Amino acid sequence: MSSLERLTVLGAGVLGGQIAWHSAFKGKTVAVYDIAQDAIDRCRAAHEQYAAIYRSEVGASDADMTATRQRLTYGTDLATAVAEADLVIEAVPEIPHVKTAVYEEMAGLLPKDTLVATNSSTLLPRDFASATGRPDKFCALHFANMIWAMNYTEVMPHPRTSRETLTAVTEFAVEIGMVPIPLRKEQNGYVANSWVVPLLNAAQTLVTNGVATHEDVDRTYLLTGAKVGPFGMIDMIGMETCHNVLTYWGSVRGDAQMNANADYIKTHFLDRGFLGLQTGRGYYEYPDPAFERPGFLAVPDISVVPDLVTLMTTQTEALA
Ligand code: NAD
Repeated sequence: MSSLERLTVLGAGVLGGQIAWHSAFKGKTVAVYDIAQDAIDRCRAAHEQYAAIYRSEVGASDADMTATRQRLTYGTDLATAVAEADLVIEAVPEIPHVKTAVYEEMAGLLPKDTLVATNSSTLLPRDFASATGRPDKFCALHFANMIWAMNYTEVMPHPRTSRETLTAVTEFAVEIGMVPIPLRKEQNGYVANSWVVPLLNAAQTLVTNGVATHEDVDRTYLLTGAKVGPFGMIDMIGMETCHNVLTYWGSVRGDAQMNANADYIKTHFLDRGFLGLQTGRGYYEYPDPAFERPGFLAVPDISVVPDLVTLMTTQTEALA
């Protein structure tokens, strides 16, 4: 058994909320911290949705859900949130200076033995190790969205992470029902996002550049037998995080297309308050998104062909 029974999650957004709920469900005592009270309120509402999902998809009982709720506390005071933590998992926005500031603020507040892990999707732990004030007790522990079904976590040390830290953190991952994916060296994007981010960026490029609709891009993916296509994934991840990742890597790599994709998400979604699945609207509307409806992948009636041809020729004719 790991020595890590008391968890604090920093950031009560999409992933922080899931990590907190799932860890409490698995028996850990969890403090959820966020800088914003409205984020805490959204997280509590999301936790009630997870209770329904865990009953229907995970086989949890009402008693399990009551016990899970009793293991969770929520707050906006960092000192209180971390005062008794064995492990802190950071899930604040994918913006380097925001993460650094949280680590620096927390460094003086943590008990001396507390371990710290980042849930960053694409940033390297070495870049935050000094800010934590305890580089040997710090590593990356990257969870996937829909943690109850996608139950793996990627464990990635930086050069100064101790073996004891990796042991305890990996044991913690196993205790909460995760398949640990060990990384043998630091890699931006870890394993999963090394292919998911290029996939989503390629799909977004097709829409940004007006080549195809998001539904048609998703059809080409869903017909492989997948349950969710790239745009369903973007909605699940959330527009904030997709925008942060594209903005950061677009700027680091000088990638104009990535920057254009980030702008597209900003103007079409963020500026209009459509944050994705969490607000019921992103590329699709929820519940009951179009890609899950019967007929989404059906061969259409032949009468739609003229409309399809119009779509294929409108832009070409405009350029002629
Ligand atoms: P999100 O935007 O849904 O949530 C971030 C939360 O952090 C918000 O509630 C915000 O109020 C809070 N926050 C902002 N500044 C803060 C601060 N200084 N202190 C405390 N809280 C603060 O983001 P998310 O999608 O949950 O992503 C969080 C992290 O998890 C990112 O590093 C992201 O890359 C990673 N991640 C996300 C996913 C995903 O599918 N969304 C998957 C794996 C990893």
